[in-house]
Amino acid sequence: MAQYFADIFETVISVLKGMRITIKHIYKKPVTLQYPDERQVMPERYRGFVHNDMTKCDSCNLCAKLCPVDCIYIETEGKAKERMMTRYAIDYNKCIWCSLCTENCHTGSITMSHDYDHSVYDRKTLVYEFMDPAEGVIPCHRATRVEMGWWVEEKKEKPKPKPKPPVEDSPAAEDKPAAEDKPSDDKGVE
Ligand code: SF4
Ligand code: SF4
Repeated sequence: MAQYFADIFETVISVLKGMRITIKHIYKKPVTLQYPDERQVMPERYRGFVHNDMTKCDSCNLCAKLCPVDCIYIETEGKAKERMMTRYAIDYNKCIWCSLCTENCHTGSITMSHDYDHSVYDRKTLVYEFMDPAEGVIPCHRATRVEMGWWVEEKKEKPKPKPKPPVEDSPAAEDKPAAEDKPSDDKGVE
């Protein structure tokens, strides 16, 4: 009989403990999000899926060469002024979010976005093609880009070298006695 009442007492205590925690959280701000309707705002330096702004990219190939896992595919055709980019793709299956590509892009076209959810059913769809099929090709040469109205990086003016200050005769040099004025230690024979 005593055990029976002890069990009832224990149950009531555990329910009260649970209710105390529940009531405490009723007045707290919720920490959960109604995903996917609500999405988390990521920190400024968060490394999400790599994104390339094709209007800025000039296909210099630097990012592809630096990528440690070779997941950037760039294809071009033609040479010099006629050189055109025909493909720019990133294989997100391989990307390790190291940011080497974004930190070294000279046009600032490739960036780490804040996208963090690209769930797919087929891994092949994680090879992301950035070229717009409607655009066809993108000019790589600077002059051709200007001619065709594509974005080009502004040329930075080199800082002019500072003029050298005129060389003045140092007063120390003036005060120096000429070689012939120097008193000689040699004692000549008179
Ligand atoms: S480094 Fe920048 S400009 Fe060069 S190919 Fe890569 S994304 Fe394009
Ligand atoms: S973040 Fe790193 S691994 Fe991913 S594409 Fe850029 S260089 Fe390659």
